[in-house]
Amino acid sequence: MATTNPLSVVTNAREKPAAPASALAHRDLLDGEFWKRIPAYSEVDSEQFLDHKWQAKNSITKPDKLLAALQDLVPREFYEDVELGFKRAPMSIRVSPHLLSLIDWDNPYEDPLRRQFIPVASRLLPDHPKLALDSLHEQHDAPVDGLTHRYRDKALFLALDTCPVYCRFCTRSYAVGIDTEEVEKVSLKAKPQRWETVFEYIASRPELEDIVISGGDAFNLRAKQIRTIGDTLLNMDNIRRLRFATKGPAVMPQKILTDDEWFDELVAIVELGRRLHKEVVLHTHFNHPNEITALTKQAMDRLFERGVTVRNQCVLQRGVNDSAETMQLLTKRLSYCNVQPYYVYMHDLVKGVEDLRTTLQTGIDLEKQLRGVTAGFNTPTFVVDAPGGGGKRDIHSCEYYDRETGISVYTAPSVKEGYFLYYDPVYALSPDAQARWADPAERDKMEEEALAAAKARVRETSQASASPSPLTES
Ligand SMILES: *Cc1c(COP(=O)(O)O)cnc(C)c1O
Ligand code: SF4
Repeated sequence: MATTNPLSVVTNAREKPAAPASALAHRDLLDGEFWKRIPAYSEVDSEQFLDHKWQAKNSITKPDKLLAALQDLVPREFYEDVELGFKRAPMSIRVSPHLLSLIDWDNPYEDPLRRQFIPVASRLLPDHPKLALDSLHEQHDAPVDGLTHRYRDKALFLALDTCPVYCRFCTRSYAVGIDTEEVEKVSLKAKPQRWETVFEYIASRPELEDIVISGGDAFNLRAKQIRTIGDTLLNMDNIRRLRFATKGPAVMPQKILTDDEWFDELVAIVELGRRLHKEVVLHTHFNHPNEITALTKQAMDRLFERGVTVRNQCVLQRGVNDSAETMQLLTKRLSYCNVQPYYVYMHDLVKGVEDLRTTLQTGIDLEKQLRGVTAGFNTPTFVVDAPGGGGKRDIHSCEYYDRETGISVYTAPSVKEGYFLYYDPVYALSPDAQARWADPAERDKMEEEALAAAKARVRETSQASASPSPLTES
């Protein structure tokens, strides 16, 4: 009779099956001279491609420049589609050669990077009826121009109005970029006088400890300006934390690798903060794993070596990162590069990009499939920045969510009184609900119903928590 060692059986049963090769895909970074596929860059060597000035100078801002770069890589009809898309876009357009080289031009309509940066008229959808410029009420909550003080202990400083690229979906299209045919912008230029007023306000509010420096984009601050902002804010007694917000690492890692003046100044401010026991970090914005190449990893490694913490804020977008597979790969790849996934935002209600929005349910489902994939501290929180100025809310904390009308309702007890409504995109609703949204009277009714349901639920839960717990009753 064969004897089996009972112990070895137990061991085998407990052994974890080997991970499939796909579990390691996050380490597989695009390397080599990938840009040479683009006709205009076929002669560009790696020294030139790494030069941040060359990247900035050769960024694409108009359809004819796109044509000049891509030539016959895409069919004529595509350019016509883009040309019309540019005309209708509320945002300026700016695409770096780095980004352009990462787009799959064999399949531009489906490509997740093309979808984010290059509008095509044929894919645009009508805006949601509740949509407005500045849906987050950033200007409404701004005591001085370019400083939004919504939460008690932290504020958002819009230091400038330009970026290394322009995203179609920018929530700040009311200010960022140059005027377009669609939008005349509020001016938030990097002017010393405006900054002085902002600094005075920050110094005058002892409860302010945490400043987000954004824009626009901190990548476009000159080295000297980083020094001015960093020095001034860190030397205020009340300030404990600074974050420089920039999409730069995701769209032009070259600057981190070759703009030594900028890099050294950023590191100097981080080090000054450390000496003062204050935190200075970089917040960035990767949305898709294809945005992370071997060059990106080198740039992130350079920051890591100098002790600069980098966190990521991502926007959930249809056809870009709304699948579990993509979101898992992005999260693992960011972690691999020592970038901490911090937030995934539900898409703001922004003009001209309804094709990019998803339902709240999509966010809820993705969060479930993401949590547990990697370290908890590298697992982002899914939030909705509540329209009307409620601030960021955990998507799961809604008081009410009507999946039929697509209305969700949030409260923000520690930020602002009232009820904040978020709206799923109309295209994703049933034909019945779509018909209701087409009728202004029905719109009001749907909102009233959602509000009434949310208020009832809040009343119920506050009564429940106000009554003595059965456990403490003796
Ligand atoms: C996002 C934001 C902040 C920072 O919020 P965190 O949740 O701490 O990242 C501060 N002020 C405003 C107005 C913001 O939109
Ligand atoms: S980088 Fe940020 S601020 Fe600039 S266009 Fe993109 S989303 Fe807007």
